[in-house]
Amino acid sequence: MNQPVDLSGIQQYPHLFEPLDLGFTTIRNRSIMGSMHTGLEEMPDGFERMAAFYAERAAGGIGMIITGGISPNEEGGLAVKDEHGNVAFSASKLNTQAEADGHKIVTSAVHRAAPDVKICLQILHMGPLAYNDKLVAPSKVRSRISKLTPHELDEAGIEKQIADHANCALLAQQAGYDGVEIIGSAGYLLSTFLVEKTNRRSDQWGGSYENRMRFPLEVVRRVRAAVGDDFIVIFRIAAMDMLQGGMSWDEVALLAREIEKAGASIISTHFTWHESQVPTIATMVPRAAFTSVTHRVRQEVSVPVITSNRINMPDVAEAVLERGDADLVSMARPMLADSQFMQKAAEGKSQEINTCIACNQACLDHTFSFKMTSCLVNPRACNETLLNYLPTNAVKNIAVIGAGPAGLAYACVAAERGHRVTLFDASNEIGGQFNLAKRVPGKEEFYETLRYYDHQLRKVGVERRLNTRVDVSMLQAENFDHIIVATGISPRTPDIPGISHPMVMGYIDAINGTKPVGKNVAVVGAGGIGFDVTDLITHEGPSAAMDIDVFAREWGIDFENHPRGGVTGIEPHVAKADRTVWLLQRKDTPVGRGLGKTTGWTHRLTLGRRGVNMMNGVDYVRIDDEGLHLLVANQPECLPVDTVIICAGQEPERSLYEELLSAGLPAELVGGAFEANELDAKAAISQASWMASEV
Ligand code: NAP
Ligand code: SF4
Repeated sequence: MNQPVDLSGIQQYPHLFEPLDLGFTTIRNRSIMGSMHTGLEEMPDGFERMAAFYAERAAGGIGMIITGGISPNEEGGLAVKDEHGNVAFSASKLNTQAEADGHKIVTSAVHRAAPDVKICLQILHMGPLAYNDKLVAPSKVRSRISKLTPHELDEAGIEKQIADHANCALLAQQAGYDGVEIIGSAGYLLSTFLVEKTNRRSDQWGGSYENRMRFPLEVVRRVRAAVGDDFIVIFRIAAMDMLQGGMSWDEVALLAREIEKAGASIISTHFTWHESQVPTIATMVPRAAFTSVTHRVRQEVSVPVITSNRINMPDVAEAVLERGDADLVSMARPMLADSQFMQKAAEGKSQEINTCIACNQACLDHTFSFKMTSCLVNPRACNETLLNYLPTNAVKNIAVIGAGPAGLAYACVAAERGHRVTLFDASNEIGGQFNLAKRVPGKEEFYETLRYYDHQLRKVGVERRLNTRVDVSMLQAENFDHIIVATGISPRTPDIPGISHPMVMGYIDAINGTKPVGKNVAVVGAGGIGFDVTDLITHEGPSAAMDIDVFAREWGIDFENHPRGGVTGIEPHVAKADRTVWLLQRKDTPVGRGLGKTTGWTHRLTLGRRGVNMMNGVDYVRIDDEGLHLLVANQPECLPVDTVIICAGQEPERSLYEELLSAGLPAELVGGAFEANELDAKAAISQASWMASEV
């Protein structure tokens, strides 16, 4: 007899699981998978891979899916070159019947996987942020973040853009989509009509706000006319654009009301333009930080309103809905991290959710580097047709040595497939380097990853042996078929005269607080860890990620949208420790250049505002009682510090591996022990998961 399905989570999260009746159709719950460009759109087998990607999320219980952005024409999109140098738009554009036929592969897979899930196509006209030589905008204004200057649209060009939006929506309907989302925010075409900074026109499409609204309103009217009444039309509005001189609150509210009148079924709130210098989704942003803004939009309209940004667990979504901040909650990255998010929530198993930690390392950093999107904590994301954890038909007895990210991922995948796995670690807790990361202000989400692995190890039956330093004889005695060495790294000790001086410490002591850090500090090495350590020691009080008031004051955000754009004065010293810090590197490149594409700037700005002295092109001469002696541009200089923290990268920790090989045992390296330069959790988890999928 089949076990009854446990749906206790539906009582636990009543608002999240309440269906939403739109009159002509019903969304089965209040969760939406928000739009994310995956990079699959430009691939030759993109439709098939997108079909698998979205269908898995549909089967995982999401209420509605919004696809990655698809351009309504060539000038609004992303031109990619094929191997012959020909410009191709592949699946990222929809203005032909052939392209619509391709999209049918996606919509039919999703509806087959879950007939009551809705899938909407996002119409994304990138305007001045498009990557092609035909790009257009209301005025010839180049964005701060683009290398290309757009062509100014004439009257005929404007009519073409509107008609192309309507045509795209109609083709989407014919391709089997349940609706479209029109993006009217972020610095893309529609939003650039709304703001004086990017709309310098004096005709009927510019000047007064009424004129500036005309283009987005006309797009919505014409889309609605093309698709009829029984089709979902979502409009994504910049509820707070975070631009100095951006939209005032009255303008946002008026736009929302007019968009509803023009025929939108749902309004989705978006925060920031891509060019603004306020983090809105990075891990340092408090959870659900922006939903109060959506709340005010919701009071202006009678159609349902979607909120988003840093909502990554069911209890966060439930609280947002219960407060009445929104009718629907959009979660994009959390659906990359765990396709079964809503199913686990429904079954009362939220503790098993693999939580998005908002690192951006495998998703948005990839998107903005033209690489395929995936997920640091879930390398299967966007690899659904390639990476699968299928049951093994040859069960092996496997030892995994090291319970850091690589060891944890390997152990979980191998055990999920049916292997017998024993996980060893010398420490008394799992997590390895994650246990350092979680102590860094703004990286508290790493606790969730540790919680996930803790549950997952138990669920898939991995035997844990902590407080156990493994040696060759121990492994020999147990007769393992396979030994995975995930022993990680050792911090590198640079060859600087005086490196043994008592004022010198390693980053592990600095992060764990096991040695006192003085008032004047030199940080040697400005990679990810040098930045993390500098952030930690220059910070005092609650982390911005845990305190919305600190976050708002550090980044100059006014959640009431005053003044225009919602950006106000920054308070650089709000969480600053009383300490003088020099952050150093030998390279001549700007300090922090190697950090993540979408988050590096937030770290550079934070440390800059705290007065950290960032120095490149230094040579380390010696450390003595006077401090750290350097050569800077061949001139001697002494930093009068009382502490030197070494963050100079890592070396692989392979001594056990070499002993195992000498003893003739079947060992394999993974993670930092395999390649210390690749010591980052993204590479470690991905490599381990692929290896364990094949063992
Ligand atoms: P890293 O990024 O490789 O940086 C090492 C730093 O040490 C560099 O600044 C390097 O600069 C310096 N260095 C290297 N050899 C040295 C030597 N012999 N003497 C003095 N300085 C030396 O390594 P990490 O900071 O330890 O980070 C490790 C990994 O964790 C990276 O893959 C990183 O991506 C990841 N991580 C990422 C983040 C994040 O993205 N937020 C945070 C933490 C860690 P010079 O050679 O120019 O001096
Ligand atoms: Fe979230 Fe990081 Fe995965 Fe992106 S890569 S979905 S931010 S956990």
